[in-house]
Amino acid sequence: MEMTRILVLGAGYGGMMTAIELEQAGQPFTLVNKHDYHYFTTLLHEPAGGRHAFEPYYVDLHDVLRRDTSHVRKDLVIELRPYENRVLTQSGPIDYDYLVIALGNAPEFFGIPGMQEHALLLRSLQTARQINRQIEQAFATYHQDQDERNLRIIVGGAGLTGVELCGELADWLPELAGKYGVPFAKVEVVNLEAAPTILPMLPVELRAAAESALRQKGVKLLTGVAITKVRHERVELHTGDVLEAKTIIWTGGVRANPLLEKACLTTDSRGRALVDAYLQSVDFANVFVVGDSASFTGADGAPLPPTGQAAAQMGEWAARNLINRLHNRPLEPFHFVNRGTLASIGPEFGVGRVQGVNAVGVSASLLKEASKLKYLFRLGGLRMVKQKRGQLKRKE
Ligand code: FAD
Repeated sequence: MEMTRILVLGAGYGGMMTAIELEQAGQPFTLVNKHDYHYFTTLLHEPAGGRHAFEPYYVDLHDVLRRDTSHVRKDLVIELRPYENRVLTQSGPIDYDYLVIALGNAPEFFGIPGMQEHALLLRSLQTARQINRQIEQAFATYHQDQDERNLRIIVGGAGLTGVELCGELADWLPELAGKYGVPFAKVEVVNLEAAPTILPMLPVELRAAAESALRQKGVKLLTGVAITKVRHERVELHTGDVLEAKTIIWTGGVRANPLLEKACLTTDSRGRALVDAYLQSVDFANVFVVGDSASFTGADGAPLPPTGQAAAQMGEWAARNLINRLHNRPLEPFHFVNRGTLASIGPEFGVGRVQGVNAVGVSASLLKEASKLKYLFRLGGLRMVKQKRGQLKRKE
């Protein structure tokens, strides 16, 4: 009898959880990802902002998916052809019977001229490294020309990514200034947000606590300020003001991976493929879509926002429904369980809402640490927890 070919695309939170569930069910599959490792996207601000070395923030895919039935292929997906049950990759086509698309997102620049060309992004291990190196290099070269733009960092966007990054930078930069002997008084982190408020997903009192923590750490937070244009080392604002900085980082938004729109899948205004209650594409019953690539409408009638926890839950669910399908069992509708949102503002302070309760300060940081451990345990049990915690102690 010919084996059912299951193909999973992307090894972020969604793809990893699909793969782990399939592996645990003994179901053979192939996972294609552009790297042979899985990185912890929700924590990338930590190594980018100098908290630790990069090693604790990724795992080798083969170290998680260890069974013979799990096939991992490092490859770049270049085209989806759901009408042919085929995916084209850099190294050739792959045919499948069932497909799980977990290809994540792409940056949304909202048409701001120059943003794509001149801003750094925080979205992968590589881009996190780029930010870390760029800032260190700018500080290291300050003494050559005394150019104060070297010491200014502009972060566009004050959602989770922007706020967490600024919080992290605020803790790291005094250390970096000391290392390169630059005047700390001239160091500036500017966080720009077009909306009237930061962290819109959190209750008002938590946003206020986050704002005050950022300001106390010296971050210059400007809300209600839209970026209209970006040029080389220069950001123009709708007020007519111009800010100059060697490091410009954009965290202002995401849309789905562009491969979905090109694949003739029905997509929403953010390019995410529409899925039904079972996480199947509305166009192809043998295609499941999860995470930031999927547009799933929740019980409240609104599309689920793109988050790591939603991606992980959808990934697990898609795998279970796929297995149900293979065993001719009815599919089960997906229900998102909101386990809360936590934002760190540096290593020792956080804000968040978990199970209907607000957490501010060290308690939120501890909850965030606990959620990291839980995730590591899910990936590889106590072995993975020990391995990654051990690496944390060795700073590069
Ligand atoms: P991803 O995790 O982006 O995974 C997609 C995978 O597909 C990647 O491995 C990528 O390499 C691979 N891929 C993409 N294109 C190709 C291709 N063409 N070929 C092969 N492989 C490809 N969410 C929260 O819930 N809580 C938080 O606190 C939080 N904090 C965040 C902080 C930061 C700094 C950032 C950047 C994001 C944060 N998020 C948070 C959002 C969260 O990380 C995303 O929603 C989540 O990663 C989406 O998971 P995913 O599996 O859909 O996609």
